[in-house]
Amino acid sequence: MSLKPMPEMTEISKPFWQGLNEGEIRIQQCNACEGWVFYPRRHCTHCLSHDLEWKPVSGKGTLYSYTLTRIPTLPEFADEMPQALAVVELEQGVRVNTTLVGLEEDEIQVGMALKPVLDQVDAKGNTLLRFTAADKALDSLPYENPLDSLPRNDKGQVQVGVDNPVALQALVSDQFTDWSNSIVVDQELINAFAELSGDNYWIHTDPERAAKDSPFGTTIAHGALVQILQSRLTFALPFEITGFQTMVNYGSDRLRFPSPVPAGSEIQARARVKSVQQSRKGTALTLEVNIHVVGNDRPSVINDLVILYR
Ligand SMILES: [Zn+2]
Repeated sequence: MSLKPMPEMTEISKPFWQGLNEGEIRIQQCNACEGWVFYPRRHCTHCLSHDLEWKPVSGKGTLYSYTLTRIPTLPEFADEMPQALAVVELEQGVRVNTTLVGLEEDEIQVGMALKPVLDQVDAKGNTLLRFTAADKALDSLPYENPLDSLPRNDKGQVQVGVDNPVALQALVSDQFTDWSNSIVVDQELINAFAELSGDNYWIHTDPERAAKDSPFGTTIAHGALVQILQSRLTFALPFEITGFQTMVNYGSDRLRFPSPVPAGSEIQARARVKSVQQSRKGTALTLEVNIHVVGNDRPSVINDLVILYR
């Protein structure tokens, strides 16, 4: 993932972006007049019919117009300079705003034959449409994970500098770590927490009454207890942040207790990096920690823990 702004997938444009992610170029054709339509719309630009259908196309076309930018339009594009911003006319007659890749400046000529290049820009498979000369061997630009080139510590964790925003963004993932070790939350532990916190409500501390009156049929652990037991659960994060002066627990963006932990349950945890944001305060890494009763799909604790590095 780069820090470059990405196109927003809308309900109307979704088939186009999904097509690219699946390696196919799709544009809309009108069933009423057979006219081709691009960019994605609800209606035909030739006859105003709403009967449009997504069709796969080769992506072959010609260069309608271009310009070379030598000053980036946004700082995030500085690595692409000079950037060949182009309008490409596909065989179907529609025109696509894009960039040309794999070409020297003096190879670019209006009217030249072009072919598509699928440019994967992040680990999730998001792909953008570029073009190059029809006679070039280039068909795709594979994703280069910025984490691959970084050093690793003796635990095998990739070391990411707090001053490396591109690599920090690459840590953001939908994938959770492997499960941690597990521990048992028994009545003794629950009682000790009730003593410490002053929360000795019967649903936590009175097994006899809980057996009779609780919807769970037994006592349950305090949500706050399960939350702090995270300190006893070790999950293997695949990275180590380096180069900071201080690291502080900045609190939680979200803390939920979606399902109970009955006394005597075994719990385990896993985590993923949900976001990384940089501001004047420092670098805030949000770690989504989920604690589950072993074997239960539904977490007992969801904690979006914010760790501030500066
Ligand atoms: Zn039409």
